[in-house]
Amino acid sequence: MISIRTTCCIVGGGPAGMILGFLLARAGVSVVVMEKHADFLRDFRGDTVHPSTLEMMYELGLLDKFLALPHSEVREISLQIGKDRLVVGHFEHLPVRCKFVALMPQWDFLDFVAGQAKRYRTFDLRMRTEAVDLIEENGCIVGVRAKTPDGDLQVHADLTIGCDGRHSVVRAKARLESDDFGAPMDVMWFRLSREPDDSSETVGRIEDGRMIVMLNRNDYWQCAYVIPKGSADNIKRAGLDKFRATVAQMSSFPRERMNEIKSWDDVKLLTVAVDRLRRWYRPGLLCIGDAAHAMSPIGGVGINLAVQDAVAAANILAENLRRKTITTRILEEVQQRREFPTRFTQRMQIVLQNNIISPALKGKRPKAPFFMKMMQWPLLRRIPGRLLALGIRPEHIRTVEALAPETAG
Ligand SMILES: Cc1cc2nc3c(=O)[nH]c(=O)nc-3n(C[C@H](O)[C@H](O)[C@H](O)COP(=O)(O)OP(=O)(O)OC[C@H]3O[C@@H](n4cnc5c(N)ncnc54)[C@H](O)[C@@H]3O)c2cc1C
Repeated sequence: MISIRTTCCIVGGGPAGMILGFLLARAGVSVVVMEKHADFLRDFRGDTVHPSTLEMMYELGLLDKFLALPHSEVREISLQIGKDRLVVGHFEHLPVRCKFVALMPQWDFLDFVAGQAKRYRTFDLRMRTEAVDLIEENGCIVGVRAKTPDGDLQVHADLTIGCDGRHSVVRAKARLESDDFGAPMDVMWFRLSREPDDSSETVGRIEDGRMIVMLNRNDYWQCAYVIPKGSADNIKRAGLDKFRATVAQMSSFPRERMNEIKSWDDVKLLTVAVDRLRRWYRPGLLCIGDAAHAMSPIGGVGINLAVQDAVAAANILAENLRRKTITTRILEEVQQRREFPTRFTQRMQIVLQNNIISPALKGKRPKAPFFMKMMQWPLLRRIPGRLLALGIRPEHIRTVEALAPETAG
């Protein structure tokens, strides 16, 4: 068993963990980030980089470098509900440099953040390292036990932060209680090629108890087929041909294009959960991102929220970690700062789930709720776009670069 010591041990190298690790290392705090996978190569984890995250890149002086990576830009998002076509995200008016959502494979985003973070000697990223338990002494969490291909590892830390997503081991081992708000759907993800004559819009369609969202990824469509929770096995039993026919009808693409879905291996199932911890911390431990509050894919705002949690946590924790003055009061401050935006966003997701998705999946004629129609009025039209793009409490970088890259440590 190898044992190491650091100031902050972050479990999970998703958007929350990587951004937090980067910001703390940049502020001169020694950080270990452990990620159970060998790389960031996972398809369909959500590839949206929102204007607020792009603004954070600008504040870090990294925006031009970041946007040099291949991406597409979504400047408006519309939703077809029955006969109504509603614009739900219009970004022209936003008070930020990038008035668009960048669609970029999440592994490119995470690789980019890892590359920036590795310039600091205070940053230690350990891939293929899976947290399996917490180390507890006198009621205080003092580190993490992990499995690696080279054997067991113990990381002792002043603070452990769970960023390990919806099925968080950290939150389970810390016995933090959560409220489960339920989700009526799961999502089947697949790709279809994009032809030059196809529309360029990112669009959602709801009809006859079915729902599809198609994201324009330049040379392909990333498609999300939304299904009633737990119904994936029934859909598979009905056969791939029936699935292809349904998708052809929903997407209005030619039937031949559906042959690109060669087997069920081309269709990935992602289960959806919406929950939130009552308390995000206990002595020596904090959870943020989906580990503290699993987000539904509705609105594609989960990554944005995870990144903003990370920025807020770094702002509050960096100096205290450097001075070794972390207390539960300071951990509580992180929850207080981020709980309202989380509650509000989850509430909106649940309202949309209950009013649009649940009835639509039960085959009822979908009807756009009045408040969504109201948001089409010119003056109100800005509100949903702003909520989608920036969230309700955008966070800004307050941490400073402690030492020049390569010499920090
Ligand atoms: C079907 C679906 C589609 C979605 N689409 C979008 C979208 O388009 N846009 C959007 O913004 N949000 C989307 N979301 C929500 C979004 O995925 C999450 O809100 C966001 O990824 C949360 O980031 P995170 O860093 O907290 O957690 P995650 O992204 O879940 O990252 C957690 C990381 O921890 C690692 N890990 C887990 N357990 C361990 C362990 N024991 N030890 C070490 N590492 C571990 C995982 O491998 C992973 O890399 C979607 C969600 C679902 C379910």
